[in-house]
Amino acid sequence: MSAPRIEIELEKISHNATKIMTLCRAKGIRLTAVTKAVCGSPQIAKTFLDSGISSLGDSYIANIQNMRESGIQAQYILLRSPMPSNIQQVVEFADISLNTELSIIRRLGECAAQRGKTHSIILMVELGDLREGILPAEIKATVKETLNIRGINLAGIGTNLACFGGIKPTEQNMQELSDLAEDIQRAHGIPLEFVSGGNSANYQWLNSTKTTGRINHLRIGESILLGYDTTTHQPIPQLYTDAFTLVAEVIEIKTKPSKPYGEPGRDAFGNAPAFEDQGTMRRAILAIGRQDIDPTSIQPRADMQILGASSDHLLLNAKNIDLNVGDEVQFDLQYGALLKAMVSPYVEKNTCRLCYINEARYFSGA
Ligand SMILES: *Cc1c(COP(=O)(O)O)cnc(C)c1O
Repeated sequence: MSAPRIEIELEKISHNATKIMTLCRAKGIRLTAVTKAVCGSPQIAKTFLDSGISSLGDSYIANIQNMRESGIQAQYILLRSPMPSNIQQVVEFADISLNTELSIIRRLGECAAQRGKTHSIILMVELGDLREGILPAEIKATVKETLNIRGINLAGIGTNLACFGGIKPTEQNMQELSDLAEDIQRAHGIPLEFVSGGNSANYQWLNSTKTTGRINHLRIGESILLGYDTTTHQPIPQLYTDAFTLVAEVIEIKTKPSKPYGEPGRDAFGNAPAFEDQGTMRRAILAIGRQDIDPTSIQPRADMQILGASSDHLLLNAKNIDLNVGDEVQFDLQYGALLKAMVSPYVEKNTCRLCYINEARYFSGA
């Protein structure tokens, strides 16, 4: 097999998807599984469907188009507001899109009406994270306008937290969303099919809340794929955290000093790095770099330490591990590295049912 590569164990993803879906169902919440971190991989999308999920979300309309054209039949939600320049594809390939701008909703309506279609939208509400969202004080006016746009079905409202501002979903902001939904229903006498409370960061809230109120939907990617609670950075009990394995190959292994010598200047990225002198160390170079991963968001599974990376080389302190040229090193990935590795054309993607069945790496706990 070629390196570098990312090995994707579909059975672990399926297990995680089933667990999260069961938790959601128990609380009366419908689940949209989010595929953007895996670039809308049709195999992973199919794994979600085989696990009983029927709704998929992605931020890229090209990913949605690709999944549809690969024969994956699901409800498709476009998670990022449509761009005015790709309204037609959105109407053609997405069943629902998340929106915050009336000018875009009008274009969607116009395009849908021309095609004899209705496009459904969820209006996103700003609740403090300061990424996308209509301010709560303006939501009623926006709903009123939206209801008059031909070709548009107002399917619901939603919010997104813990993405830009790092603001957590709490009882309080979830109650605020729930109350807004209640107000809109009362004022307009319309049922809101979706009251969409958020993403992977909603895990703690979902697990602990006594009442979900009017919230009936979540859009979850990272915690299904990587098994982590994104607000605490802790593994979620009974989920696999190793469904993805990054593999890279050793191209140099030498005992060298730990501190660079010569006249200090700048590194490849214009920084002036500082290194502690730890005497000599076994230094391994792997054929992977910042074009493929974020070195701060991968972790070797064996006891070795990442020293840093340039665009195309990753440096490890091999410590007492007996590494040789040509050996493969396995890493866990966090979200930032997963995003880059999935996009990098230099990293082969290899899916299998279970690749590491013989290894004693099972659940994260309980
Ligand atoms: C990315 C995204 C999600 C999913 O986020 P995860 O952290 O992967 O669960 C949900 N909703 C929106 C609007 C998103 O952009």
